[in-house]
Amino acid sequence: RAKEEGKNRFQVYHPDMHTNSMNKLTMESCLRGALDAGEFEVHYQPQLDLHTDTVMGFEALLRWNSPVFGKVSPLDFIPLAEETRLIFPITEWVLYRACNDTKRLLEEGFPSLLVSVNISALHLADSRLIHSIRSILRQTGLPAHHLCLEITERAAIQHLESTVCHLHELREIGVKIALDDFGVGNSSLSLINTLPLDTIKIDQMFVRSVSKSEISTAIFTTILGLVSDLNLDSCVEGIEMPEQLEFAKTRRCRFAQGFHIGKPLPYEELKSYLRNRMP
Ligand code: C2E
Ligand code: MG
Ligand code: MG
Ligand code: MG
Repeated sequence: RAKEEGKNRFQVYHPDMHTNSMNKLTMESCLRGALDAGEFEVHYQPQLDLHTDTVMGFEALLRWNSPVFGKVSPLDFIPLAEETRLIFPITEWVLYRACNDTKRLLEEGFPSLLVSVNISALHLADSRLIHSIRSILRQTGLPAHHLCLEITERAAIQHLESTVCHLHELREIGVKIALDDFGVGNSSLSLINTLPLDTIKIDQMFVRSVSKSEISTAIFTTILGLVSDLNLDSCVEGIEMPEQLEFAKTRRCRFAQGFHIGKPLPYEELKSYLRNRMP
């Protein structure tokens, strides 16, 4: 009997699983060296202010060009970075690049731009985040009100108490806070009330569902109205078509982001993009 079980236990190590865990180990070791090897790059996706029809800022999105794996999606390597705690040095690197690039744009004469950086749960709950942000702002010379941190609901509720406390401190120094991917998962209205927020980013899913059914259109419209009634700014994510931009414009939405407005761009291309859209 024991022998039987032993046999079965052996079958757990299926060749596919071996390959998968080898892959993960390899990816992990590649990820460890990626920062020093200069394999990361930050791209910036423009965000449009619908009230003024001007670009108000951009979201920093991390790109990894691995010599072993090629271009790896952040959806694949960010969870691994969180698991290995590499997310700490990686996020600090993104913050530094983003603040430095934005400061350079301000010096080149582009007015009042806001850069948004995605922050993971682990980092949000860590009190060192405030120290590193202060020191990065000081080093780069970027005024705090040009920086926005994007957090998700899932991240916020993991360590709610410390997160709320850190967000209050950050807002006191002038940093803005956006709630990312709103509407997916366990969205709760009390969370909006608990977190100190400036902007709510409505997940791409909503813009996709518009005009597919009356109910989803009504829900989307209601969320945009609610955000505006709470005196928060809304940002609709994932705008791919002109009709979707029109829809957002007529529904009290403040900001919009998506491939139709602009794809994530490397710094130099962002600069030309902004230059072409200067009033
Ligand atoms: P997110 O923060 O919600 O970022 C928006 C994602 O939607 C980006 O994917 C962007 O390229 C994509 N997107 C923007 N407009 C459109 C559109 O019109 N259509 C479609 N189909 N997609 C659009 P990306 O760059 O692959 O990033 C995926 C996620 O990875 C991000 O979602 C964010 O959660 C995470 N991420 C990216 N960079 C970082 C980072 O520096 N730190 C952390 N912690 N997470 C990051
Ligand atoms: Mg985001
Ligand atoms: Mg998002
Ligand atoms: Mg998203």
